[in-house]
Amino acid sequence: MKRLAIKVDVDTLAGPDNSGQAIWRLFTRKGFLPKMLRTRAPRLYGLKTLTYGTLLPAPLIVVSEPGLLRQVGAAGHELGIHGYDHVHWQDHLARLPQEAVQVEILRAQKIFTKVMGYGATAFAAPGWQCTAASLAALMTENFSYVSNTRGYGPYFPRFGRRLFPILEIPTTLPTMDELLGLNGRTARDFNQEIYSRLLPGQVEVLTVHAEVEGRVYREDFARLLDQLQTDGIEFRRLGDWAQELLAAPQAVPTAPVQEGTLPGRAGTVACQGPSESQI
Ligand SMILES: [Zn+2]
Repeated sequence: MKRLAIKVDVDTLAGPDNSGQAIWRLFTRKGFLPKMLRTRAPRLYGLKTLTYGTLLPAPLIVVSEPGLLRQVGAAGHELGIHGYDHVHWQDHLARLPQEAVQVEILRAQKIFTKVMGYGATAFAAPGWQCTAASLAALMTENFSYVSNTRGYGPYFPRFGRRLFPILEIPTTLPTMDELLGLNGRTARDFNQEIYSRLLPGQVEVLTVHAEVEGRVYREDFARLLDQLQTDGIEFRRLGDWAQELLAAPQAVPTAPVQEGTLPGRAGTVACQGPSESQI
């Protein structure tokens, strides 16, 4: 059986939408401009979104659309937190002490709890940025698992000698915004690539972006979902998988978290290092 879990990042609907600050990254981050042009970000995000946080006051979007979050939950999807201020986390996490990260997490959790009536049990880091301080902060909230890194399978993360007893389920597949346009790839090529990466007996984790697969590439994404469904691929919720894994935690390996780069993505991301058996 081939299995796939899909994480949907909604980057413009959580916390203050500071995605307008992405404009800064055009100038400060190597590789960001080519990516913006390749994926035609102004078209993807809409001009208004690109100016949020720089020209207009940042709106709290989940608060202004609470019904949407409840609707997604009622449809049977798992909901988790993807940070409070995406741009702040993505650009400054490396320098944030645990207390500052904790403030971000608590802010998001407070809004989530207010809207949903219960606390989120899953967290996925903005921009796959993860540090020892952010894991320490995440440990203080009752998340049953986190999904902060890029890798190849579930593990308990380690920074240096410090092992964190919090289950990490990494994103295992490349994202559409990374591969689109890379060596001339089309959305169709991307779908094909994702499809060919699914192997029997394995669960792969794909991250999609509401602003990419949910907008300009909506039809291509729908085609991928249709193909997966037709071919009997089993869709998994990460929370369900986490529960199964945590029933036998000794079978889950540990692995170091290392900084790495990915084809088509600007900057560095937290990556799963080689698996180690548990100590
Ligand atoms: Zn995101």
